[in-house]
Order: sequence, then structure tokens, then C-alpha cells
Amino acid sequence: MHRFVAGALAISWMAASAATSNDLALSEAEVAAQRERLARLGFASMLERQKRLIRVSSAIRLHGAALCNDQLSPVTGIVAATSAEIPEAYRETAYRDHGVEDLLKVLWILPDYPAAEVGLRSGDTILEIDGRETHSAASLDRRDPVDSQIFTALKIERDGEILDLLFEARNGCFRPAVLSMLDNVDTHTEGARMVVYSGMLRFAESDDELAIVLAHELAHELLGQKLSVENAESEADYLGLYLVARAGYDVAVATEFARRLAAEFPFALEERAGHIHPFSAARSIALANTLREIQGKLERAEPLEPRTR
Ligand SMILES: [Zn+2]
Repeated sequence: MHRFVAGALAISWMAASAATSNDLALSEAEVAAQRERLARLGFASMLERQKRLIRVSSAIRLHGAALCNDQLSPVTGIVAATSAEIPEAYRETAYRDHGVEDLLKVLWILPDYPAAEVGLRSGDTILEIDGRETHSAASLDRRDPVDSQIFTALKIERDGEILDLLFEARNGCFRPAVLSMLDNVDTHTEGARMVVYSGMLRFAESDDELAIVLAHELAHELLGQKLSVENAESEADYLGLYLVARAGYDVAVATEFARRLAAEFPFALEERAGHIHPFSAARSIALANTLREIQGKLERAEPLEPRTR
């Protein structure tokens, strides 16, 4: 019965669209317009995710710098892209709405960060970084870790004018985070960057939860691979929660979030990152102790220094 109805509908649709060739041309135009609307929505949502990732990861990295010893790199707070770095489906939109081509186009800058303070703006094209031509956003991050302060010189193009901007980047914990549009609930380390998947940004509903994910991964990096699995998890939780609290995010959501992640995605964040993150009873108890320790320090307005062990 259903098949018959569907068939009848299909036939009447075909008859209607065959009536005039204009109708068909119109519907093609509508399809194109709809495709454009979808691409625009997709690109906008990607950009929002990128902004959120940069905002949270930059705060974690900057406020944690004192705990990251010599594992530092500059935090630029700049979201920029070349056409090649944008998923193919969004390239036309990125070009039409934001002028993204082969050169590095600034899409967004974190307010109150040095690049914004010296006047870098969305829409600027970055031609050179420290005297070297640049053709990728990765080159903004591909900087040597530094001991103290670092000056970054940008040559940019704005409305046909060439401008030189000099700003003092702030050091934060190595590594800068970068968005992958894959929907995995996962993060992993790739070269000098921490890749955070779109699915993880969706799963970590609040910025507090996202901060916990990013800080935990950073903590693993800082601690290295020497510890046993169980110790590595507890130590990464311990140091990670200090990184979260120092950046001003709420550590209290950690227990429930870790439980939710373990329950819904037991295989998330697995060995591809070089770490596994099992949520055991021992880890749960250690986490509760760490929360008490940090919350006590916050209440007494004591410095958020993790104990060295
Ligand atoms: Zn872990």
C-alpha cells in the first residue's frame, strides 16, 4: 500500500516537473541556494567550534605556563586559514564570505590577547611571520618553545595596504590545539599540535568540561610516558585539574564528566593518543581527593600549586 502511494506521488511529481522546463530550472536554482545556505551554516558552526577551542585551550595553556617547565610555546589566539585548510564543502563559502584564498586569512582573534591589542583584525591577510612567507595556519603554531618573552612580527595586507605589526606573544604550555571536523569523541597528538575532534567538542557540553579534556591531555604530555597506566591516569587527573582551576574553569564537573565519558564512550580517547584513560574506582577516589584539595585552596585563596611528587 505504501509503495503504491509513494509511486503515485513520484509519478505526479514527474508530471508536474515535466510540465514546463522553467519549473525544473527553478528547482535547480533552489537546490543551489539551499546548498549554499547549508555550506554557510556548516562553515559558521565550524568557526564557532574553532573559536571555542582556541578560547578554552589558550586560557588553559597561558594560566598553566608556570607548571609546564620548559615545555612552552607562544599562544597567539589567532584563528586563521588558507583555502586548502578548509573542508572542500565550505571552500566556496569561505572565499565568498571571508575572502579565504591561498594566503593565510585571519578569521577571528581572541580579544585581550596581544595580537588583537596591536590591531590585527579578522579579514587581514598574513603574508609573513617573522620575515618568512607563510602559506598555512600551522606556521603560526610552528614556533620553537621559548624561555621567556617572544616578539612576533607579522606582515599583513589589509584593503590593499601592507602593514607591519609587532606583538609580544605570551608563552603557554606546549601544545596548541587544532580542530578536526571528524565527529570522533577523541583527541590526539599530531606533530606539534593537539588535534581535538568535533565530536569531542560536542560531547564536552560546557567550557568547563572541554577544559577538563584539554588539561588532561596536556597533563599526559607534561608527565611523559614513564608512569604505569593507573598512575598515569591519576597523575594526569591531578595535574590536569590544577590546570583547569588555574584557568578559572570549574573543576567540580570533573567526576560526573569522567563517568559520562567512560560510560558512553568506553573506547574514546584510547591508544591512538598513546594513552588509555580507564576510569577505575581508585581513579575516582583520587579524583575526589584532588577536587577537595583544589576547592580548599580556592576557598582559602591559596596559590594553586600542585604538590610535586
Ligand atoms: Zn588519560
